[in-house]
Amino acid sequence: MVQEKMNKRQKGPRQRNETLYILTSKIKCGLCGAAMVGNSSRRKAGAEPTRYYECINKLRTRECKSRRMPKEVVENQVLDEIQKKFLSPEYLPELAEKIMQIISNKEKINIDERRQVESQISVVERKIGNIIKAIEDGSVDFELLGDRLKSLKARREELECQLSLLTSQLHGLTKEMVLHYLSATKNELINRQNPVECKKIMDVYVHEIRVSDDLVDILFKIPLGADKDGVGGGT
Ligand SMILES: [Zn+2]
Repeated sequence: MVQEKMNKRQKGPRQRNETLYILTSKIKCGLCGAAMVGNSSRRKAGAEPTRYYECINKLRTRECKSRRMPKEVVENQVLDEIQKKFLSPEYLPELAEKIMQIISNKEKINIDERRQVESQISVVERKIGNIIKAIEDGSVDFELLGDRLKSLKARREELECQLSLLTSQLHGLTKEMVLHYLSATKNELINRQNPVECKKIMDVYVHEIRVSDDLVDILFKIPLGADKDGVGGGT
């Protein structure tokens, strides 16, 4: 491909013979579960190589009977799905709905965890109160319990910090806000001539791809910061 050659030239001599297999680390063999890796072969010397993804288990041991998957076919299929599911205006309301579900599930978990931390804080506070009372009463020496008091106070601070982290940053986010945020990226056409960009897009939206025969199953993730929540398979 002319474009491919141009790209190679732009990147200088180091990457002269490197082809970026953008699905590497995401693509798995549907038959045995092993990773699939990029590979190429030439029918004869000097000919344009055929590029594909192949099960690493098959490559090493020949034990897996899975087939090779042509590189461009599977890459385009995944990019098509991302384009459709995440970057097309028609799909935005559905995506916003899924994001709201994830946020609300997270909130539920957070509420449970917050309760636990709060009860730990009240235990620590009771202990602190007891020590202070004992010191005030003169029944124990401050020298004896001063260190204990310090460590309890440190523990309380630690728990309070934990509590503030559990107060979700996504709290109060409405579906309208999510839609507004998403519409900023809508209709963005993936530039398929730029493999580095395509690879970045894979990292953002794709959790895993499973290939068996010609069937490509994509598990997406919704890009909410470091979130790894899958949102269901594709085709
Ligand atoms: Zn396999």
